[in-house]
Parts: sequence; structure tokens; C-alpha cells
Amino acid sequence: MTRMLIAGNWKMNGDISMAQNLATTIAREGDASNCEYLLCPPFTAIQTVAAAIGDSGISLGGQDCHAAEAGAHTGDISVGMLTNLGCEYVIVGHSERRSNHGESNADVKAKTKAAVEGGLTAIVCVGESEAERESGDALAVVGSQVASSLPDAASATNTVMAYEPVWAIGTGKVPTVEQIAEMHIHIQSVLAQELGNDSAKTFRILYGGSVNAENADEILRTDGVGGALVGGASLKAESFLAIGRSCP
Ligand code: PEP
Repeated sequence: MTRMLIAGNWKMNGDISMAQNLATTIAREGDASNCEYLLCPPFTAIQTVAAAIGDSGISLGGQDCHAAEAGAHTGDISVGMLTNLGCEYVIVGHSERRSNHGESNADVKAKTKAAVEGGLTAIVCVGESEAERESGDALAVVGSQVASSLPDAASATNTVMAYEPVWAIGTGKVPTVEQIAEMHIHIQSVLAQELGNDSAKTFRILYGGSVNAENADEILRTDGVGGALVGGASLKAESFLAIGRSCP
């Protein structure tokens, strides 16, 4: 069975000494036979984290990438720059990128294509807003994000999906396990339509949005959940490792 993926998105938090300490503790205490732990620090701390995790089996990723290989893109980071530092993953289409930087499904698709062609595993984030959930449009919105964010080259071996309801990110609000299961099964059926059944069956689909040490057990045992994308609770080794230990 594929191990669950427990991914920490540190967002724009911490400094070099915090990154060094957090990564060192996770590398020392994280049992990689439980699950695959992935750390996605800010770009400026990637090298520090790479050195701290060494060959512990903890994976490393970026929080975003540009779709182009190189060029006049001030402030952006390419896929090659991430692989050069030892990254194996990159998060694309996080709702904070979609809302703060106006990223469209087409942008996410271009970034995912660049990531998989450049040898990274893309973690493609999708999720509905609170208004979309309340108006009964959640399945349609997320289904259309999945269908239009994935390039032809996406497969279960180079892409991971992350279902992150926007209203659950950083708010302490979490969907019911029934809502999570319904959405994960829906995402799988859209993947089957887009990419074919065989690839869809083995896709890892993470849940993200206010996952913590207390609720991880129930969420990770929900049908269709292949791991978690964790924001706030990934900034403390204790809570991040506890989430990993909750993997069935
Ligand atoms: C996230 O931003 O990907 C996330 C899930 O954040 P949090 O866990 O803090 O809700």
C-alpha cells in the first residue's frame, strides 16, 4: 500500500534558525515507515532544510513555481531551481496563490505541466469558497478546477491532488467526514474521466484545511483520503509529527 503523504506548507513563516530547528526535529523524530513526511519551507530556507533533513527520508518541496524554464520573471522561481536544491515536490494552485496573485486554472495547468516535465511531483490544490459550498456548487466548482488544472502529462506517479476548501484554511472550521469523503470520491471520478480509470484509482488525494493533532485521526481514516496538506499545525514539530502518527 502507498504510504500516506503528510505535507507541511510553512507558507511565509519563520526564519533560518526556526527552519533549521523544525526540520532537524522532524528528521530526528519522524518515522518514515508511518507515512511520507514532506516539508515545503519558504524558498529562502530550502537549502537550510535540505541540509537539516539530509538522508532521513523526509521529502522536500517548494510552495510554488513559474511555468517558464528561465527568463525575465522577477521574484519567481523555476522548476529547475527547485530540483537543483533537492526538491521533489512543488505545491501549485494553492488558494492563497489563486486569490492573492490572481492565478487561474490555466496558470495552474501551465505550472503543473512545467513541474512534471521538470521531474517534480506537483501537488495541485483545489477547493470551493464558503459561498460556493452554501449555494450547493462545491462539487461542480471543484470538478471544474480539477478538469482544467491538469495537463495531459499528469498521472498518479507525478501528480498529487489536494482538496482544500477555502473556508477551512486557517479558520479552525473543518468539513464533516461525509463532506470530505463525498468530495474525494468526486475528485477521483473527475480524474477517471480526464485521465482514465487506471491512473485515477491510484492517485493520492490529500485533504487540507485546519488539520491538527486532534482531528487528524478521523480525517485520515476517511474514505478516499491519501494524506494531508497541513498549514498552521506544520509549524510545530510536535503537532506535525502527531498528524503523521495518526496515519492508518
Ligand atoms: C494550507 O494552507 O494549505 C492549510 C491547509 O492551512 P491550515 O492547515 O492552516 O488550515
